[in-house]
Amino acid sequence: MNANLQVCIRQFPHDVVNVEHFELREVPIPSLAEGEVLVRHQFLSLDPYMRMRLADAQVGRFAMKLGDVMMGRTVGTVTASRDPAFTPGDVVLGWGGWQSCSVARAETLQKVEPLGDGSLSAYLGVLGRPGITAWLGVVSVAQLRSGESFLVSSAAGAVGSLAAQMARHIGARVVGIAGGAAKCESVVEQLGVHACVDYKAPDFKERLADATPGGVDVLFENVGAAVFDESLNRMNQHGRVAVCGLIAQYHSGEPYAFKNFPRILDRDLKVTGFRIDSNKDLHEQASKDLRAWFDAGVFKSWERVSHGLENAPEAFIAMLQGRGQGKTLVRLH
Ligand code: NDP
Repeated sequence: MNANLQVCIRQFPHDVVNVEHFELREVPIPSLAEGEVLVRHQFLSLDPYMRMRLADAQVGRFAMKLGDVMMGRTVGTVTASRDPAFTPGDVVLGWGGWQSCSVARAETLQKVEPLGDGSLSAYLGVLGRPGITAWLGVVSVAQLRSGESFLVSSAAGAVGSLAAQMARHIGARVVGIAGGAAKCESVVEQLGVHACVDYKAPDFKERLADATPGGVDVLFENVGAAVFDESLNRMNQHGRVAVCGLIAQYHSGEPYAFKNFPRILDRDLKVTGFRIDSNKDLHEQASKDLRAWFDAGVFKSWERVSHGLENAPEAFIAMLQGRGQGKTLVRLH
């Protein structure tokens, strides 16, 4: 291994992302300085926030420039180290980006143990940021209790599918929202939730009402815009809303005008936004619970794995467009 394959930003997207916005580049692997570690990536995580970063970079909020390697979470194996804390063969999590290997400062890496089946992908899904995010919303923000009614949007996605399974495990009556009849069917059949409503159906509003006859005590919001708006209307008095993401609003220039905003006031709703990086003090507790539930078989492994770094742009676009379900990953070797 003496060359590094990278996916870089060729153009910033103004609306819809396409493969032309990215380019593949091969560069030599630099030699290591003191305190640096060379990591060969096995899996790369593809996530909606990357779309926001592409938009943010254009307005200067983050330091991504044309030609930069796309950022991203990775899990891989140390192949060389100039830091005493790491030796070749160690398995590490880091922010390696869209490339086959990366040189990282030792303090930015986290050592993990390979799991029983030898797979590392769970560290980017259920045992990684999607799992912690779902835990924060369900357990910490909403404090969901057994017997309550729980509604989650993007229920077939990485965070949503884990939130749905956690809520079911806690003993809630779980309803999902997802795009398309086939997706909704697999959410019900494979995740074992009570119902799943297709937000693309023309009668979404009526279907949502039918699926939540007793209203909703806890809403886990991943999508925003019209899906969020209709969900607000189903909330019970003193309901809790955990606002995790607004993917429908990440690349739209037009602000969405909420018609059910008054429900927040007239139903005494508690609406809380939360971000994984603002709750680092809870990550240890979340990871403990997630590992225990994972070992007990609470979660179904739902992954959409593409093979080869050159396919990362297409896999990213497919994830944004809702083609596929579960956690979107690229296997690099
Ligand atoms: P997902 O795996 O859920 O992938 C995104 C999905 O969103 C798509 O597959 C698609 O599914 C759905 N979607 C896309 N566009 C729309 C739209 N216009 N209307 C409705 N649904 C749409 O991603 P993640 O699980 O990684 O993330 C889910 C949400 O959580 C995102 O909003 C993300 O930004 C947020 N997040 C927040 C974090 C935090 O710290 N607060 C941390 C991590 C993620 P479908 O087929 O159903 O349309």
